[in-house]
Amino acid sequence: MAVQSLYRRYRPQRFSELKGQEHVVRALKNAVINSREGHAYLFSGPRGTGKTTTARILAKVLNCEKPIEGEPCCECGSCLAVQQGNSFDVIELDAASNNSVDDIRDIIAAASLGSPGRHKVYILDEVHMLSKKASAALLKTLEEPPSHVVFVLATTDPEKVAETIRSRTQHLQFHLLPIDELEAHVRWVVADAGIEISDEAIYAVLRQGAGSARDTLSALELSAATGGVLDEVTPVDEFVEAFIQFDAGRLLAAVANTVNFGRDPRTIVNDLVRHLRDCFLTQMAPQLVQLPESRMAVLTTQATHLGTPRIVKIIEGLGLSMNDMRNAPDSRVVLEVALVRLVHRELQTGVESLLARIERLEKELESRPTFAPAPVNPVTGKAVLGGRAAQDPSAPLVRPVVAPTPVVDTAPVVSGVGSAEQVAATWSTAVIGQLKGMSRAIAQMAKPIDRDGTLVLLVDNDPSAKRVSDNLPQMLGVIHQAAGGVCSVIVETRLAEARSAPIVRPDLIAEEDFIDPDEVKALPTISKASLKNELTDAFPGSELLSEEE
Ligand SMILES: [Zn+2]
Repeated sequence: MAVQSLYRRYRPQRFSELKGQEHVVRALKNAVINSREGHAYLFSGPRGTGKTTTARILAKVLNCEKPIEGEPCCECGSCLAVQQGNSFDVIELDAASNNSVDDIRDIIAAASLGSPGRHKVYILDEVHMLSKKASAALLKTLEEPPSHVVFVLATTDPEKVAETIRSRTQHLQFHLLPIDELEAHVRWVVADAGIEISDEAIYAVLRQGAGSARDTLSALELSAATGGVLDEVTPVDEFVEAFIQFDAGRLLAAVANTVNFGRDPRTIVNDLVRHLRDCFLTQMAPQLVQLPESRMAVLTTQATHLGTPRIVKIIEGLGLSMNDMRNAPDSRVVLEVALVRLVHRELQTGVESLLARIERLEKELESRPTFAPAPVNPVTGKAVLGGRAAQDPSAPLVRPVVAPTPVVDTAPVVSGVGSAEQVAATWSTAVIGQLKGMSRAIAQMAKPIDRDGTLVLLVDNDPSAKRVSDNLPQMLGVIHQAAGGVCSVIVETRLAEARSAPIVRPDLIAEEDFIDPDEVKALPTISKASLKNELTDAFPGSELLSEEE
């Protein structure tokens, strides 16, 4: 078999051979039969749906020596010349590369010259790529076309074609092929060309073709050449699985693999968006999804796991990354950042995700048993409200966390027995007021109380307790000064539950432990910087990923 691509070999030569564009075929055949062909057509539709093929068939039949009911004979000299691409009556131009005003002027100049056939057919592909000036020149010709000239303007993006041009054309829209029609076509080609291929491979081919006859036959050819093995060029399922798992590493690995296979980051984004759109449609309008049933089931499962709001969010995020890529020197980096952002809950912006983030961090801080875990109720498995207080109604609503044995200053700064009560009463002036820098800030985290002569430094949570106790050696001198002698000091954490739960029983709380809301308000606030320090302290080995507040 001569080396000829399946797409070329099975390219339709007559209107009747075109797949899935019946409305276009009907309009054109009728026009030809009645000799009422237009001077300018606009063919729009996705790539690979047969726009230029149809334009060539039109050119062929308009110049055919023996047309049969609106179809070319495909045997006469003119038909064969068009088929071989050497007809003087058909001029094909790609507007993407011939988009200057000079190019168009050349066309116009040539258009007025005669040619061997009855009609001169200009096929301008990707006409939306024409420059403004070139569009203006084309428009002039369309306004007063030479009688024997037919323009066929093809585009994947009709919205970008100037309205003035569009309004002077007959606009015919091409559609992607329904999956069953495409499948029938592929099976016919497979049988006709004697290709051996499994059903699974045919489905993979159809999936990759995504409704485009040209892309489908290209995929079939590749599949046949590799013995039915067809790598998905973009492993969309792998990407979606990684999204479902919130797995940034897996996403980056998928990008690396795909890029290594020569796939451009922009194309990856397009493939992903197309796939996610299908996922979305399985939930909203399954009848619009053009996929074989087995594949449809896979997408439905993916969509269920992702959830519609998240699918929409990912599509939006990918769309934004597409914009960013336009000006970025390295589009792969843009893609990677976008993907990581989409799975990293911390990096998502917006008030809602920020609140969720704070809530989660707070929970983690509270539940983390940095030192001694709170007593647990064996029945409920939950921390016992009040800790020790639950066993001893007279005990304050606190639990000891850092220094179960009193920390006693051994430095001979002061002598005699100090008064914890006095320290507690004068804490802000005699202690905080005397400390400097970090120690001062840390002392502000503690609420001092006197418990039977022992100075108890109450803090809000375990990380604060650790900081205070770590800094005790720097504070003890001042504390003992304030106490007028040596006193025992312990650091305790208020139970997290006690802070948030309204079910605190006042009768269980010693008076000095009762938290007066006004007093809480008057407590010094912790700076954002120290909050960050706390967070990073609370998660050893962690690093701050975002400075967002
Ligand atoms: Zn002919």
